[in-house]
Amino acid sequence: MKYPRVELHCHLDGALPPETFYKLSLAHGIIDKSMDQETWRKQNVIREAMPLVECLKRFDLLVSLLQTKEELIEAAETLGISMYEQGIRLAEIRFAPQKHTEQKMSQENAIEAVLEGMNHVMKKHPDMIMGIIVCMMNCGPEIDNDADNLETVELAIKFKDKGVVGLDLAGAEGANPTESYRALFEKAHQAHVNITIHAGEVCSADVVKCAMSMHAKRIGHGIHGWQDPLVAKEIMDRKIPLEVNVTSNILANTVDSIQDHPIREMVDQGAIVTISTDDPLLCGVTLQDEYDLLKREFQFTEKDLIQFNLNAARASFCEGKESVIDKLEELLESLK
Ligand SMILES: [Zn+2]
Repeated sequence: MKYPRVELHCHLDGALPPETFYKLSLAHGIIDKSMDQETWRKQNVIREAMPLVECLKRFDLLVSLLQTKEELIEAAETLGISMYEQGIRLAEIRFAPQKHTEQKMSQENAIEAVLEGMNHVMKKHPDMIMGIIVCMMNCGPEIDNDADNLETVELAIKFKDKGVVGLDLAGAEGANPTESYRALFEKAHQAHVNITIHAGEVCSADVVKCAMSMHAKRIGHGIHGWQDPLVAKEIMDRKIPLEVNVTSNILANTVDSIQDHPIREMVDQGAIVTISTDDPLLCGVTLQDEYDLLKREFQFTEKDLIQFNLNAARASFCEGKESVIDKLEELLESLK
């Protein structure tokens, strides 16, 4: 069925369109022309479940390809166009500007570049709504990136009404306690920056509780919140939308098997579930693949999928989302 799709949780590096990934890999001399695009894409898809920390290592190559302004502009632009072609009309793309400063760019340059790419997409397709979420990184106690994270918060504030719609904490959940980022989230909240936090992806329900206490308006993943009925209740009582990425959860080994994924329970109990892809390149999926999996493995219906999109549109931090909300509400109404 045709309706506007909404993607809220998508990492720019892990979501590079295959053709952009191939082109940049060639340009960087990582591969030569004897390698074809599809083989190269497949080689980089995570095939078997592995710990999140191992998955995170897969990002090193991707990030190394995105160290100039031109590369980031191209990444954001081609990703946005590819999303549009897949029927997505409201998209939030996230990235950690501090990962793109290995050469000459500052965090601010990196944000400007991604904004430029995104603006090219919206100019070409005026019915596409996009926004950027900037991520702080949890790199664990061995790497001191406190100053970098503070800079990310300051830039989230500076670019708040200029295309940056939110702030996140990504990386190795639990490597440093999520609690240790409280002051940074407080600073962002004081400046009215929207907050979403990766929580309950690998760690237990108490991290989701912690994230909710740090002004998170949404939770990235949050699936382990369902290990504790009290935390699950709090998520639902507070109507906190969850950005769920089922394939990513399986590949990062955060659930033992697909049957153990709590999404059915979450939806049946009344949680506000949204569906995204997390890292479509690394996970080897599109948003449609995720929808097909939800139908096949969890017996969700087309109507459920429209509801997930409506949940996502309502939960989006982007301005101008009302047109998408209206379309989805009308469609759901017509199916009653
Ligand atoms: Zn993520």
